[in-house]
Amino acid sequence: MGQNAFRAEGIDTSRPHPARIYDYLLDGKDNYEVDQLAGDQLAAAAPEVRIGVRANRAFLQRAVRYVVGSGVRQILDVGTGLPTSPNVHETAQEVAPDVRIAYVDNDPIVNAHANALLNRSAETSIVLADLRDPRSIVDHPDVRRVIDFDEPVALLLVAILHFITDAEKPERVVETLREALPAGSFLVLSHATADFADRSEAQAVYAKATATLNLRSRARVERFFDGFELIEPGLAQVPFWRPDSPPPAGSETIGFFGGVARKT
Ligand code: SAH
Repeated sequence: MGQNAFRAEGIDTSRPHPARIYDYLLDGKDNYEVDQLAGDQLAAAAPEVRIGVRANRAFLQRAVRYVVGSGVRQILDVGTGLPTSPNVHETAQEVAPDVRIAYVDNDPIVNAHANALLNRSAETSIVLADLRDPRSIVDHPDVRRVIDFDEPVALLLVAILHFITDAEKPERVVETLREALPAGSFLVLSHATADFADRSEAQAVYAKATATLNLRSRARVERFFDGFELIEPGLAQVPFWRPDSPPPAGSETIGFFGGVARKT
C-alpha cells in the first residue's frame, strides 16, 4: 500500500494517536515520532504507565480466558488497538477454537494493520466504527456476520471509555450496547483513573493527541456496570483482578480499574 493510499484513509501522523501511543508503551513498532514523544512524556509524568499498560493487557487476557471458560463463544472487542501478541482471538481460541470475534476500532491505522496482520476468517471480522455511535457497531453487517445477538456475547471495552468525554455521554453508550446483549452476556471493562496518583500531566499529553484522556473515579467507573452483576472481586486495579502470578512491584499506583460483569 503506497503513501497516498494511507493518506486517503485519513491517517494523521501529525498528532499522537491513542492506539499508537499505547503500542509504543508496549514496545510495539507501529508508531511514529509524535507518538514516541507523547509516550515518553507520559512515562515522565506517570512513571508506572509502562507497567500499567502491561498490567492492563494481562488483565484483558485473564478476563478473556474467564469469559470463554464460562461458555461464551462470541466476543465484541471495541477499541481493539494495534495488533499485539497475543491478540484477543489467540487467547480466546486457545480456550475454545470455535470462538467468533468482531474487532472494532475507529482508528484507520488500526483497521489497516488488523486487516494486514490478523488472520481473517469466517470467525473474525475487523470493523472501522466509532464507540460514540454504538448503534453503528451493533447494526454493522460485518459485526452481524460473526456475532449473533440472540446468543451470549462478551463485550470488551478495555482501555477505551476514558477516550469518551462526559459530553459524549459514555454511560448512554454502554447502556445502548447493553440493551443489544442477551442475558448471560458479559462486560469486560477497564478504565484509567486518578484515584491512586495525580494524573494532570498525563492528561496534558493527551490534550495534544487525537483523543482526550477522561479520568474517572471508582464510583463513576462502577456506574458503567449498571444492569450487570460484577463477578468477584468486583472492580479492582487491573493487577489485582484475579491475578495468576504475583502483581508486579508498584502495582498499588497503577491507574487502571478493571472488572468483569454478567448480564442477568
Ligand atoms: N483494548 C486494547 C487497546 C486499548 S488502546 C487493550 O486494552 O489492550 C485504545 C483503543 O481504542 C485505540 O486503538 C483507539 O484507536 C480506540 N478508540 C479510541 N476512541 C475510540 C472510539 N471513539 N471508537 C472506537 N475506538 C476508539
